[in-house]
Amino acid sequence: MNSAAPFLRLKFSTVVDAYGKLEALSGRVAITEVLASLLRETPKAELPMLVYLTQGKLRPDYEGVELGIAEKFAIRALTTASGLPVEAVKRSYVEAGDIGTAAEKLLEEGRQNHLSSEPLTLRRVYDALFDISQISGSGSIESKLRELVSLLSDSSPKEAKYILRTAMGELRLGVADFTILDACAVAILGGKEHRKVLERAYNVTSDLGHVVQLAAEKGLSGVEGVRVQVGKPIRPMLAERLSTAAEILEKMGGDVVAEYKLDGERAQIHKDGAKVEIFSRRLEKITATYPDVAEYAVKYVKSRRAILEGEVVAVNTETGEYFPFQELMHRRRKHGVQEAMQQYPVAVNFFDVMFSEGEDLTGEPYTARRTELERIVQVTDFTRPVPALRTKSAEEIERYMEEAISEGGEGLMVKDPRAKYTAGARGFGWIKLKREYRSELTDTIDLAIVGAYHGRGRRAGAYGAYLLAAYDQKRGCFPTISKIGTGFSDEDLERFPKLLKPYESSVKPPNVESMLVPDVWYRPKVVIETIASEITLSPIHPAGMDSIRKGSGLALRFPKFTGKVRDEKGPEDATTVKEIVEMYNLQKKRIKEN
Ligand code: AMP
Repeated sequence: MNSAAPFLRLKFSTVVDAYGKLEALSGRVAITEVLASLLRETPKAELPMLVYLTQGKLRPDYEGVELGIAEKFAIRALTTASGLPVEAVKRSYVEAGDIGTAAEKLLEEGRQNHLSSEPLTLRRVYDALFDISQISGSGSIESKLRELVSLLSDSSPKEAKYILRTAMGELRLGVADFTILDACAVAILGGKEHRKVLERAYNVTSDLGHVVQLAAEKGLSGVEGVRVQVGKPIRPMLAERLSTAAEILEKMGGDVVAEYKLDGERAQIHKDGAKVEIFSRRLEKITATYPDVAEYAVKYVKSRRAILEGEVVAVNTETGEYFPFQELMHRRRKHGVQEAMQQYPVAVNFFDVMFSEGEDLTGEPYTARRTELERIVQVTDFTRPVPALRTKSAEEIERYMEEAISEGGEGLMVKDPRAKYTAGARGFGWIKLKREYRSELTDTIDLAIVGAYHGRGRRAGAYGAYLLAAYDQKRGCFPTISKIGTGFSDEDLERFPKLLKPYESSVKPPNVESMLVPDVWYRPKVVIETIASEITLSPIHPAGMDSIRKGSGLALRFPKFTGKVRDEKGPEDATTVKEIVEMYNLQKKRIKEN
């Protein structure tokens, strides 16, 4: 640390005085004034430190610099710094309910004559806290403690209050990020009207300290020139919600793109050659959880430098089916990443590209970004641009939604083809359309196997999934209701082809109704027991066609083989279409708004 010219440095007591005022205030205007005068007093080079500390952090969130020291540790530091018995410190902490208040009180009582040789500066406090966050390895506790105690010994009781709160990650000044931008617009750029420009710069870099410093050093034009950067996460664009396809069409001017809305984890993927960083929706680094996703980005994204967004979903690599969200969450809870990767493989459905080959695409309309997305994302078993349909018809949207749901999605994300990528903002450029009803299944359903699909991955060379049909008693035929690939043991996979061989058919059996064409057809003979999370409407399965809604049949969502082949049942003993329609109606529940 360069210790020259301390008089040019902001005194920490100035910061702390302002914090004291901020805590006592509630109106946004008054808070902005206090912040603005604090910003005016701060040397340019120290602005980022001030901004991060005021946010209760040391660096922007995405860098993952963790402060939050443990309570026990803070008590030890305060005990040493105050020279009081640990019991007294603990008692005071419990009484005050907050480490900062306890520190202020104890130090006032304990060291009345304390006179520091030189006043603490903002820089000294920031650097010390930053050092503490970086110390690791053996003996790190003691080193951290030494550093914190030394800082506390040089601080006034009031300064100690805020230092300890910050160190514990409990500053909570009640200052919103956008209030800091307001203050910056007034104090640094000279007027409230510049707030929008600052906001945009913040939304594309997620680094408030950097934006404020840029304003101070380069002025308005510097801030206007901020572009998205590989490595700095963009604050995500968020969606509005409407409840019908017709409303969405009207809102978007009659012409939309409907995309599958898959139920996984949002990932913002930054690629720079072979180097990839992945950020969560909350902009935390999740690269370590998804090394496979990073690898896909290197291998299957044909842009050398790019920022993309996609939904990561757990996938059955043998059938290509997606699993429900809960399956993906195992991935986060697992300790061994390698093991988790094997046990819970994932696929990425890319849905946006904000930067590609040197170009900031956030200002481009959706259609241009989608064209680039389709150009650069290779379709593989693990990567693809999310399925999308451009349409002007409400009916087509509804049908597409059913298709998305039967493919494991939770609904649609409908996008305005003209909309830019509005970072950090919720708007009508994207509108969520979820189902109105869900029909949970508690019963098992017995279905006839009428077809099989070749497997891939570990199931290459065998069948990966089977096509299932219910029995339509009235018409005496077998309409399909689901594909199934989950729940089969290795032993099942081996015995099924043998079990089914005698019923193989080179054409679709005449009593089977199906819009899908499997790799192999079977005459309905073998009946298996299945469970599923629910029954959904589906345009691609003819079981119960038109009985709930014109043009839609019924399908199983997340179907699973229970392990039971119903040898005792003939195909006409399979669950009937009538029963399935009844189950759908019986279990229909309105979906909670969220
Ligand atoms: P919600 O969390 O219900 O507000 O829905 C928004 C989330 O849907 C996003 O944050 C994404 O994680 C997810 N999502 C799934 N598919 C898409 C898609 N095609 N486009 C945008 N977001 C999607």
